[in-house]
Amino acid sequence: MNIHEHQAKELFADYGVPCQSGKIAATREEIAGALVDFPDTGKIVVKSQIHAGGRGKGTFLDGYKGGVKLASSKKEAAEIAEKMLGNTLVTQQTGPAGRQVQTVYFTEATDIKKEYYLAILLDRATSKPVVIASTEGGMDIEKVAEELPDKIIRTFIDPTIGIQGFQARQIAFALGFEGDQIKQMTKLVMNLYRLFDEKDCAMVEINPLIVTPEGHIMALDAKVSFDDNALFRQPEIRNLRDLNEEDPKEIEASKHGLNYIALDGNIACLVNGAGLAMATMDIIKYFGGSPANFLDVGGSANEEQVTHAFKIILSDPNVKGILVNIFGGIMKCDIIANGIIAAAKSVSIKVPLVVRLEGTNVEMGKKLLQESGLSLVAADSLAEAAEKIVQLASK
Ligand code: ADP
Ligand code: MG
Repeated sequence: MNIHEHQAKELFADYGVPCQSGKIAATREEIAGALVDFPDTGKIVVKSQIHAGGRGKGTFLDGYKGGVKLASSKKEAAEIAEKMLGNTLVTQQTGPAGRQVQTVYFTEATDIKKEYYLAILLDRATSKPVVIASTEGGMDIEKVAEELPDKIIRTFIDPTIGIQGFQARQIAFALGFEGDQIKQMTKLVMNLYRLFDEKDCAMVEINPLIVTPEGHIMALDAKVSFDDNALFRQPEIRNLRDLNEEDPKEIEASKHGLNYIALDGNIACLVNGAGLAMATMDIIKYFGGSPANFLDVGGSANEEQVTHAFKIILSDPNVKGILVNIFGGIMKCDIIANGIIAAAKSVSIKVPLVVRLEGTNVEMGKKLLQESGLSLVAADSLAEAAEKIVQLASK
């Protein structure tokens, strides 16, 4: 789960990670109130709040440039906010459709002496949190990794003992900090790790982390995401969820206990088990097709869940064909067959449907489908099923 920058900065403040405070506005009426406490003459930064980075260099669909903008007065800040609110921002990370800005964040502008990069995330290869730091802040970190790999400092943390003071100090040294800044940076890294650990984060990223001309180190941007599987024990974090930022199909799926991820292809997949779902997506690709989603109905889905799964799939206008691939283990093939029949009764399936059933109660499942009068193509092997649906969907 992702949160907005302004929410992440509140967490930073709670954990003693230095950053500026700010005010948000979600409607035009809220803009004046949000700006009340800002000085009349000082510079104000207006920041679009969307769950995607690259906002500074982004462009709105109506041509307005910049999702993060500097204003030299309150009046100008209000004008910028009015242009941003409700407007759709396209950045490198949003895809061409962009994201609608529903909240803007006002914060004081600060002078920047130097920009750095700092992040903590989970390294899957070592099963450890890793602190990533670089003197090349403000830049796209993937680009730094590619072009200037020596400029990236990786520090692996043993999760059972947490970050050690010497590790944080080494990061400060490696970034070239001196004197009091070593202390500031060490504390900042330790506090950021505490946040990462205690709140079950998947990632915390500060880009840029800056040094002001006065020598203060602080976070200018804040991106935090959480491990969805830990949200059950993080109720305050769960409350920060912004459903406006999520795919409505994914929200609907999560309500019914379905693991659904929208993709941009045109062949919908309904599969039981994540491994089989991955294999199904691969084989669709192998035969030249492109999956419209990942959907794992789980090992013990019932008829109702299967019906919901079909409804979600069919609500995607890009779907030109559906491949049902079920290996009946705990999940029985007849249950799936009944789900398909029930779904077909409540929503009309106008796209080709290929069904491959295997495993427990497979004969019963096949018989139910045959006798239902539904127009579908049966397949026995996964390869056959994938090849058929790719052919049918491309017609
Ligand atoms: P994004 O990463 O989505 O583009 P950032 O918050 O990093 O958004 O902002 C983009 C750039 O805007 C930053 O790299 C920084 O140069 C500038 N910026 C952001 N906040 C401030 C601020 N409070 N004062 C001065 N400049 C800022
Ligand atoms: Mg940034």
